[in-house]
Formats: sequence, C-alpha cells, structure tokens
Amino acid sequence: MSALEHGASPAGPEPIGPGDAGPMLAYGDGAVDRVPDLVAGEDVTRVLLVCGRRSFEASGAARILEPLERRAAVQRWSGFSPDPDVDELADGLAVLRDFGPDAILGVGGGSAMDTAKLLWAFAHIEGPSDLRAAARDGARADTRSGRLCLVPTTSGSGAEATHFAVLYLGEEKLSIAGPSLHADTAVVDPALTRSGSPTQRATSGLDAVCQAIESLWAVGATSTSRRLASQALELALAHLEGFVAGGGAEDARAMALGSHLAGRAIDRSKTTAAHALSYGVTKQHGVVHGNAVALTLGAFLESHASAAPEDLQEGVDPEAHAAAVRRVLDALGAATGAEGREAFTALVRRLGLPATPSEVGITSEEQRRALVDTVNVERLGNNPRRFDAEELAALLRRAG
Ligand SMILES: [Zn+2]
Repeated sequence: MSALEHGASPAGPEPIGPGDAGPMLAYGDGAVDRVPDLVAGEDVTRVLLVCGRRSFEASGAARILEPLERRAAVQRWSGFSPDPDVDELADGLAVLRDFGPDAILGVGGGSAMDTAKLLWAFAHIEGPSDLRAAARDGARADTRSGRLCLVPTTSGSGAEATHFAVLYLGEEKLSIAGPSLHADTAVVDPALTRSGSPTQRATSGLDAVCQAIESLWAVGATSTSRRLASQALELALAHLEGFVAGGGAEDARAMALGSHLAGRAIDRSKTTAAHALSYGVTKQHGVVHGNAVALTLGAFLESHASAAPEDLQEGVDPEAHAAAVRRVLDALGAATGAEGREAFTALVRRLGLPATPSEVGITSEEQRRALVDTVNVERLGNNPRRFDAEELAALLRRAG
C-alpha cells in the first residue's frame, strides 16, 4: 500500500489514489530533513547509505548525516560509476554483507538509486561469478530483507518511483525488475536538484521528457499511466529550459515533480524503442543517458505519427495510438509528425546538446548495425509501431 503526501507544488499533483503501487512520497523543499525520521527507527538501527561521491555534499543532502547517525549506525558506500556494472555491484554486495543493514538509503541520480535497489535485489548472492549468472538469468526481485528509501538529487531518472533498475554486464544492458525494487519511501526535495551543472540538468530533464512521451504511446500504457505521463510532460516542457538556464526554485519544483510523475508513469507502462536504442548509444559512444534517448525520440515521433494500422503491434488500437501521438504533438505545439520532430530537436538544441546521431559521431552503416544489435527484443514489443532490425537501422539513418 502506499500513501501520498503532497507539499507545496507548482501545479498539482492530482492524488494518484488508493491502490496505487509504488513508494510513499514525501515531496517539497526541505523534505530531505525528514529522511532520518523516515528511515531510522525502532526496527532500523543500521543504515547503508549509497550515494554519489560529490553530489551528496554538493546537493545539500549531507546535512542529514549527523541526525541520521544519532538514530542509527551508518555506513556510506560510493563505489559505483554512472551506468553501474556487475563488478561494482559485487563490491557493494560485499559491503552489504559485512555491515548487515536493516535499511538502504539511496541518495543521488539514477545510478545511485538503481544501485541501492540492486543491492537488495541481489543481497543473497555471493561473489561476482554468481552475480553475473543471476543477473543474466533475468533475476526477478520479489522480496527484500530490509527497508529501502530513495532520494533523488537530480530531476529526470524517476528511479525513485520505478520497480526496475538497469545493470550492465560489459556492454550488455540488463533490466532487473520486481516488486521489491519499489522503495518504501521516495523523498523528492526539489532544493537538492539545484546544484547540478546546466548540462546535467538538461540531460536528466530530457530523460523525463522522453519517458513521458514514450509512456504515452507505450503498448503497456494504462489510463492512469497516460494521466501521469501527460502531467509530467506538461510540467517538464514548461519548466525544463528555465531550470537549465537559471535553476530557480519554481522551475526546480516543477521539474522534480514532473520527473517523479514520469517515473510513476513508466513504472506502469515501461519505456519503448527510443530508450531501448539509447543504452547502446551510451555504452558504444559515451553519450549521457538522457541525451542518448533524445537523439532518436524525434524520429520515432515522426514514424509513430505516420504509422498505418497494419504497422502497429497486434492489439494496439489505431485510434488510441493516434490519440496518444496527438497528445505528444499538442504538448510540443506541433500539428504534424514532421513538425513534432522539428520542435523536439529544436528543444534539444536550445538546451545546448547534440540533437542527432551524427552529431555524436554515429555516421556509418556499421555503427548503426552495431547499435541495432544491442537492442533487447522484449523492449520493442512495448513500442506501438513494429520495428525489425532493418527498419531500426533505417530510422537511425533518418534521424540524421
Ligand atoms: Zn531513461
């Protein structure tokens, strides 16, 4: 069960309502000060803090350490990188076993929060080779032996709201999922997100925009996920540029909320082909996640806008698909797929980021093939328009 608590917010959110899966939410400027009370208590005396090396201090979150240490023994671990891999997780699992926490507190961007989730998911596994085998088997995370609290310091990943996490095995991207990856509590404090660089804010914010758009047209979308995604998209499109340019409090609040709602949306609907292609772009070309997704999102929008009924996955209602695409186009102020793609690409450029595959060095057919080879077929089943390898390569070419 979950409960939602709403602090002051710029434009909502609407209550999500009873029966909603996902973490309890504490939202608002200063919410982070409630973390010691929310995490530590009678049955929680040992807390493993998983946080970024620098962002923990820079974001202002570090001020919770002293009050937390008055309530519980705290061990801090920061031995993971962006896009964490199996070997780093194995190191973290050794720390987890030695320390024996009752709770894990993940504070940071998507990587810190995903790592915190994965530590509980694989807590019972010893050693890198067993972990590799378990991760490759597509382990489901159904139970965990302690509490989980997640605190984002960036606005974009939505990882504090989802029941899945990304883990790399070399260049191979694994998606680990299960109900135990839902945090007990998500603490979304917009004030923590204002210390990031403009580029960080732009790439993370674009991730939220892409998540909201993909969620709207996902095969797995529900009426609830569409409502959450629409709200998220409106907030993010209205405030992302202001947040990147100035990082003011009002824009930070809207982006924090929009990102969280986008996370709640993809938690239900999952993401689609633009996300599926992005992981290879990140690993093979070193492009930061949110930017990697944005490189093809516009081309997918145009392709989805022009899809004939026979191009759609089985079971996708052409009218519902057209309505979802229309919502995305309306949000972007566009009348056609081509205009939508242009508006989206223009936004990416105004944020100061590369907007097409060729701008990050993806120019040859061989590179496109290598990317298509990384795509997880299961992910594509959630994309409303069917794509085979040939068509994906063609879309990458068209993306410019
Ligand atoms: Zn993402």
